Amino acid sequence: MDYPKQYGVIVIGGGHAGTEAALASARMGVATLLLTHNIETLGQMSCNPAIGGIGKSHLVKEIDALDGAMARATDKGGIQFRILNSRKGPAVRATRAQADRILYKAAVRAILENQPNLDIFQQSADDLLIVGEQVKGVLTNMGVRFYSQSVVLTAGTFLGGKIHIGLDNHSGGRAGDPPSIALADRLRELPFNVDRLKTGTPPRIDAKTVDFSVMTEQPGDAPLPVMSYMGKVEEHPRQISCYITHTNERTHDIIRGGLDRSPMYTGVIEGIGPRYCPSIEDKIHRFAEKNSHQIFIEPEGLTTHELYPNGISTSLPFDVQLDLVHSIRGMEQAHILRPGYAIEYDYFDPRDLRHSLETKFIQGLFFAGQINGTTGYEEAGAQGLLAGLNAARRAQDKEAWYPRRDEAYIGVLVDDLISMGTTEPYRMFTSRAEHRLLLREDNADRRLTEKGRELGLISDERWQAFSEKLEAIEREEQRISGTWVLPDSAMAKQLNPKLERALSHEYSLKDLLRRPELTYKDIAALTPELVVDAAVAEQIEVVAKYEGYITRQQDEIERVRRSENTALPADFDYEVISGLSNEIKSKLKQIQPQTLGQASRVPGVTPAAISLLLVHLKKRS
Ligand code: FAD
Repeated sequence: MDYPKQYGVIVIGGGHAGTEAALASARMGVATLLLTHNIETLGQMSCNPAIGGIGKSHLVKEIDALDGAMARATDKGGIQFRILNSRKGPAVRATRAQADRILYKAAVRAILENQPNLDIFQQSADDLLIVGEQVKGVLTNMGVRFYSQSVVLTAGTFLGGKIHIGLDNHSGGRAGDPPSIALADRLRELPFNVDRLKTGTPPRIDAKTVDFSVMTEQPGDAPLPVMSYMGKVEEHPRQISCYITHTNERTHDIIRGGLDRSPMYTGVIEGIGPRYCPSIEDKIHRFAEKNSHQIFIEPEGLTTHELYPNGISTSLPFDVQLDLVHSIRGMEQAHILRPGYAIEYDYFDPRDLRHSLETKFIQGLFFAGQINGTTGYEEAGAQGLLAGLNAARRAQDKEAWYPRRDEAYIGVLVDDLISMGTTEPYRMFTSRAEHRLLLREDNADRRLTEKGRELGLISDERWQAFSEKLEAIEREEQRISGTWVLPDSAMAKQLNPKLERALSHEYSLKDLLRRPELTYKDIAALTPELVVDAAVAEQIEVVAKYEGYITRQQDEIERVRRSENTALPADFDYEVISGLSNEIKSKLKQIQPQTLGQASRVPGVTPAAISLLLVHLKKRS
């Protein structure tokens, strides 16, 4: 049957990409349908119960700055929060939260169910309705045809999903869920470049059978961080600890002894796995010299005894899994609740996408999440939001929008994917961004919320909170720039014990804040009657301390932008430029771009490479 309601956007899949896509589209006022296998699994964490971490939290904060759900759900479901790299510079500081799976899922579902313009329907999408080169809607396995102007596909690990435990395998989307076979077959008929990737998950352990007394306890941070710019510590549920233990020589021997029944080492699995989240068998093989690996024992929630042993993802046979778990300190008597497994699935070459995440072959069809070759909830959510907003813009007859690499990690993620493609599951790192100091997790709102408001993504409540924060920053900036400390004043006397040298003349508070010995807290202690919000204080401090570097990065971006039309001579010798990778050299030699702008658009040519070309051109002239 033809469903009577016409949608602007249909999103297939209610995972991390799909939920952000559906919410973004609906926030923009477009009639949106979220079509997913099972309403109970909306926002389900397929693997580890954690959100954020280095590089990833930057994406979460950007999703949040555009009013997405991930950070808000994390604040409601987070049972342990930590700031990683807290002693390092602000560019690499990252928030990570352990989540109670059930609370997280419930928070995502509540956000979805309360979102105006969004309908949810539980059903498998089996086919896309395509006329010519234009998508028109979706056909479900019950035979219902839903029509829309755009479709966002976010099928995760489900397309042609095959689960492996030892040499046994069966079809599945993830443990306990069906795969998507009909849709996978249909997509293989379309002109997309499809390949296989693989990922894996560890066995889950019953906490009642674990001896925590021989493990190292790892509590969360105090004061408690929040993930969302709108987040409040009071929203967090009860906080609990994680624990640390290690593998040992015996564990490694057991794993080596099982490799002849490993689907990865016997060639049964063909897909490539995530390099930075390898299985334990991969770690033993690749780092043969190490006789121990750290394992984080992470609780899966407040109302369950299930534990996630982070670091022993495996697809070894179950008997080997049991032996290897029992060889680990504190888990000698452990009971496995769910076996570990690997999953192989179809993914599409992301070079077949535009920056908006619309496919180049089928108009109105957008791809987001794991199917684009990425791994991780955060990477999926970020793409989902971008695809959802562009699918909605398409339905509104508006031009696509996407952030540049110097504006957001979302920009870096999408630009990397569509220009370079990926042959292994792609995850985000701060090192992937050239302009790290500009793209901090503390300023994602200042980078994106205003644009988000213009796009129609931001609620009035968030907009008001953001505007008030900006005003408070402005006020405090003015106050510290205009408050002068005289050498013998009461303020100077209070500061002197903290300073390397006593003040020789008058300084503004802002000048003093630039000194490495002083923090914003020291400056604030001079006027205890004035209470400034912690997020405002953080902005004041980071900007004061790093202003020089930040300005330098902004100048560099401007310089490269101005050089867009700078000519690259026909006889330009790329070989002599040290620092350019051989791959980039050969691409440039082959394509022979005429300007730097053209060179920058050659897939795989990075902004760092363009800077090198620019420097070299300057030297030549
Ligand atoms: P998913 O979260 O998989 O969501 C896909 C959704 O689409 C599901 O709700 C599904 O039911 C629905 N769906 C699929 N097909 C259809 C259809 N035809 N019709 C209707 N609905 C459909 N990430 C890491 O960062 N590190 C890891 O170590 C890691 N290990 C993993 C191990 C396993 C076993 C699995 C399964 C995943 C692992 N992940 C890991 C990946 C992480 O789970 C994903 O990156 C993330 O969930 C991707 O989000 P997504 O929205 O693209 O897809």
